[in-house]
Amino acid sequence: MRIDVVSIFPSYFDGLTLSLLGRARDSGILDLNVHDLRDWTSDRHRTVDDTPYGGGAGMVMKPEPWGLALDQLASARAGSVAEPVGPRPTIIFPSPAGEVFHQSTARELADHEHLIFGCGRYEGIDERVFEEAAELGEVRLISLGDYVLNGGEVAVMAMIEAIGRLIPGVVGNPESLVEESHEDGLLEYPSYTKPSVWRDREVPPILLSGNHGAIAAWRREQQIERTRRRRPDLLPDEG
Ligand code: SAM
Repeated sequence: MRIDVVSIFPSYFDGLTLSLLGRARDSGILDLNVHDLRDWTSDRHRTVDDTPYGGGAGMVMKPEPWGLALDQLASARAGSVAEPVGPRPTIIFPSPAGEVFHQSTARELADHEHLIFGCGRYEGIDERVFEEAAELGEVRLISLGDYVLNGGEVAVMAMIEAIGRLIPGVVGNPESLVEESHEDGLLEYPSYTKPSVWRDREVPPILLSGNHGAIAAWRREQQIERTRRRRPDLLPDEG
C-alpha cells in the first residue's frame, strides 16, 4: 500500500519509523511518504493560511497549495503524470465534522492501494479543496471522535496505525488480529501473563486449567459482561 501524508508539521510522523509500522516501511510492505504542504507554496513566507471570507475568528487554509499537492500526489501512480494508470487514490481529510472512524473503516481502507491524508490546521481547509479533490479520487472526511483537536496530525497517526496493522504481513501473527476489541462487535476479554500470583492477586483459575473449551466459554462470557458494563451501546439489544 502507498500512503501519502500532507501536513505543515511533517515531523509529527517521525513516530511511524518505529515498531511494527517502521518495520513494514523498511520491508517495503508499506510505502509511506510524508510531505510538507509548504513545499507547494510560492511566496517568500511559504503562506498556507488566510482570513476567512464572511469574517469570523481564526484562519483558513488556502486552496492553492492543497490543489498543487493533491494534483502531484494523486498522479503518483504507474504510468505518466498526464496519464496515470491503476486505481484512483482515496483522499482522506481528518475532520471533526466527518464520519466517525471505526474498526470497520480501518478494515475497509486497509484494502485500498493508495491513500492520501491531508491534515488540516487552523479553522480547517477551504471547502473548494474537497470538491477539487473529488476530481482526483474518492474523498472521505473522517473524524476520530466527537471532540476537536488542534490539527489533523494526531488523527491521521491514529488512522494509519489502525489501518497499517491490518495490512497482511505487518503484524507477525495474523491470528492476534482476530481476537481484538471491536473485531466481533464486543470488547476483548481480560488478559494475564506470568506469574500466576502477583501481589496476592491470582489469575482466574480457569485459565490454568488447560481446558480449552471452558477457557473459550469463560472468555466469551467476559467479553459480553465487559461490553455490557463499559460500552452497552455496542450491544444490539441495549444500544
Ligand atoms: N473549525 C473546525 C470545525 O469546527 O469543524 C475545526 C478545525 S480544527 C481546530 C483543525 C483541524 O484539526 C481540522 O481541520 C482537522 O484536520 C483536525 N481535527 C480536529 N478535530 C478532529 C477530529 N475529531 N477528528 C479528526 N480531525 C480533527
